[in-house]
Amino acid sequence: MTGKIKDIGRIISLLKKEVKDFETPVGTEIGESTRDAFQVLVSCILSLRTKDTTTGPISHKLFAVAKTPEQIAKMPLKKLQEIVRPVNYYKTKAERIKVIAKQLVKDYNSKVPSNFEELMEFKGVGRKTANIVMVYGHFSKDHIPVDIHVHRFPNRMGWIKTKHPDQTEEELKKILPKKYWQAFNDLIVTHGQNICLPINPHCSKCFIKKYCKKAGVKKNR
Ligand code: SF4
Repeated sequence: MTGKIKDIGRIISLLKKEVKDFETPVGTEIGESTRDAFQVLVSCILSLRTKDTTTGPISHKLFAVAKTPEQIAKMPLKKLQEIVRPVNYYKTKAERIKVIAKQLVKDYNSKVPSNFEELMEFKGVGRKTANIVMVYGHFSKDHIPVDIHVHRFPNRMGWIKTKHPDQTEEELKKILPKKYWQAFNDLIVTHGQNICLPINPHCSKCFIKKYCKKAGVKKNR
C-alpha cells in the first residue's frame, strides 16, 4: 500500500531543486565517494550525536589510515580513539567499530552483510544505521533510513502523526511511493539541516511551504 501523499511527485521535485546547492549529508557523501559499505557503516557509527561537519573530516582522516575491516581490526584501540577523538562518545564508538571490524574479519570474510536483520545483530547497530548501510553502502531501494530529520519532516507536513522514528519508518513505507524511498533520506536530511531546522525553521524560504501543515511548528521565520 503506497502512494497516499497528495502531490508527492511535485513535492519531491521541488525539494530536489531546493537542496541542490546545499552540502551533501555525510552518509551520502561517503557512500558516493567510496561505494563501500564498511566505510558507510563506520562513518554512520561516528556520526551518532555528532554534527556532519565533524563526522565528515574525521571519517576521511580515519580512512586515510585504515579503511578495511582488516586494517581497523589490527589498529591499536588507543590509536583509533586518538583519530576519532573529536566525535562525541569517541571512546565507546572506537571500541564498537573495532569489535565490528574483528567480527567481520572472523565471520564474514571481511564483507559487511547486505541483509538488514544480520546487520542489526552487530552491537551498536540499530535500525537507522542498518538502513543507512543498506541504502548508501548496498544501494538498496527497499529501505528508508529514518533519523531525526526524516522523523520530524513528515510529521510537520501533516502526513503522519508518530512519536518514534521506528513508527515513522513503518508509516512512511505505507504512504510514500517506493520509487522515492532510496533518495528520501538524503533529500530530507539536507532539507532539515538547511531549511526545516529543528527550532525556528525557515518556512518563508521553503520551496514546499504551500504543501505543508507546519504541524507542531510554534515559531518560524
Ligand atoms: S514549511 Fe516550514 S515546517 Fe514545513 S517543510 Fe517547509 S520549513 Fe519545514
